[in-house]
Amino acid sequence: MSTIRYCKLRDTDVIISPNRLHRPTQFNVPKDNYKLEECPFELGAEDATPKEIFSIKDENGDWICRVVPNLYNALCIDEGKSSKREGFFTSKSGFGAHEVIIETPSHYKMADKYTLKQWDAYLRTVIHRLEDLRQDSRLEYIQLFKNHGSFAGATLLHPHSQIIATGFVPSSVKAELQRCKDYYDIHNRTLLLDMVHEELSVSKRVIFENSSFVAFAPFASLYPFEIIISPKEHICDIVEFNEDNLKDASSILQDVYRRLYALLGDFHYNMIFKNLPNLKDDSSSYHTFYIQIIPRIYMLAGYELSTSMRINPLSPERVAKKLKEIL
Ligand SMILES: [Zn+2]
Repeated sequence: MSTIRYCKLRDTDVIISPNRLHRPTQFNVPKDNYKLEECPFELGAEDATPKEIFSIKDENGDWICRVVPNLYNALCIDEGKSSKREGFFTSKSGFGAHEVIIETPSHYKMADKYTLKQWDAYLRTVIHRLEDLRQDSRLEYIQLFKNHGSFAGATLLHPHSQIIATGFVPSSVKAELQRCKDYYDIHNRTLLLDMVHEELSVSKRVIFENSSFVAFAPFASLYPFEIIISPKEHICDIVEFNEDNLKDASSILQDVYRRLYALLGDFHYNMIFKNLPNLKDDSSSYHTFYIQIIPRIYMLAGYELSTSMRINPLSPERVAKKLKEIL
């Protein structure tokens, strides 16, 4: 059972989750010695996971994208949502949801090899899970993320993403939303779309674009090869995607990963979807949905951890040029 403890000094919550200690890691086993029968995400190994929540199937009835509860869950939907004082300190119950999206039945298929159909199934699965989880108004924030490779925090190679939904909005998300709101109150435009407008007009950090989206290495990239994929027009949340947006999102994700793999090989990375909180407020007017891809090439070191500032040895202009030229 997890608890969520609040640190007053650093204004952040911490999930204390003993269940996560028991996760097996595939990366302790040399790649050649790993047996696919040990992978719980294979087609035919459905009994190795908790009961399926959702899946998209192909014409033969086999799943091509599948969602299950995380066996080593950090949070639990059956916990009551509560908070308490413990003397000077405050904590919350481990209420929330923790799901795994198994992106493909193919263990060794990396994101650069996904077909447009696979990306489409993945995005539709994400949309379905967000819409479903948001029915529970106790869940205030739903974070989708993907960890690929041990430097990115993954324990299994089989391609998967995770969803963690919390009964509150994490403080760093709240702070970013507030910056978007402050900007919107002054300029009556969204902060991200103004960034995108500038990136498109100077063009030197743009990697790829289509009718709905643009991928760029941001002006102040926090990490080498960091990429933001943003809509060109205001879309506050992935559930607002229309059919054209879905097609264009699949195509830009396919293109960006092909470029990254062509340049970096099988690199470790995190991918994060920035959605709206599940709150009845006006954030849909000033928040723009975006996807952030963070290659984990350099470890965060003392300066980064102590100041939250980053030291990035690669200019985003150089990154964009390399990624543009590679295909
Ligand atoms: Zn597998």
